[in-house]
Amino acid sequence: MESNDTYLIKRVAITENMDNAHLLEVSGTCPLCGKYMLVAKGKRMNKLYQIAHIYPNSPTSNEVKILKGLERLGANCEEFENKIALCKDCHGYYDDHKTKEEYLNLLRIKKGLLSASKAKIATSHQDLEQEIIIVINELSKIDQQTLQKMKLEYQALKISNKVEDIYTLLKVKIETYVCIYFNFIKETFQNLDQAGQINFELVASEIKTSFLKCEKEMISKSEIFDSLVKWLKSKSVGSSSEACEAVISYFVQSCEVFHEITK
Ligand SMILES: [Zn+2]
Repeated sequence: MESNDTYLIKRVAITENMDNAHLLEVSGTCPLCGKYMLVAKGKRMNKLYQIAHIYPNSPTSNEVKILKGLERLGANCEEFENKIALCKDCHGYYDDHKTKEEYLNLLRIKKGLLSASKAKIATSHQDLEQEIIIVINELSKIDQQTLQKMKLEYQALKISNKVEDIYTLLKVKIETYVCIYFNFIKETFQNLDQAGQINFELVASEIKTSFLKCEKEMISKSEIFDSLVKWLKSKSVGSSSEACEAVISYFVQSCEVFHEITK
């Protein structure tokens, strides 16, 4: 059946990664009947589940009719949002006997799962915030010697042309970090500054100066960013690259470092 419904696109095969993500989303149990969907058979685990389309990939004319105007998840039918792991029995039944109520029920379940995983991601952000505090605390220990060494490390880097698509990725990365963490980092700096644990003005101006010195070495923005992240990571034992990236992104934003470089 030809359709001009842009939500319907050609079937996309599920990769192993996606398959795992779907199983993880439902914690291994069928969201409709509660059955556990993995069964040990000898040394192997047998899969008793399939990945179902919530809104069908190729709806029958009857399905088009009963689902008309109802909410749909994702930009098209092949996105993660429109798929869910179901046990084989429930999947078969759902596909063959779809009603408006069953569709809306599965949609509601999926929405619940999506918001639960969003909450999980938010919690992992909290862990990252803890790490950022550690990184920021380490920044207070910067001394002239370290900064000098940092400068030498820049000079050791090879001159390379700016790669435009890498730069775009870098921009997106920095913007994302700034969007999520800017105020948090700003506040943390302010608190540490007021408590006398850090001299923010000093730290900020020294980092800015180091950035500006890089201009003379003609290093690409990506390299400057990466080397600063690496340097910060080496200074704060046990911190993740993500936490360091967030802090460096803060400096890029607050000191407008790259602006000055592109002048
Ligand atoms: Zn089931």
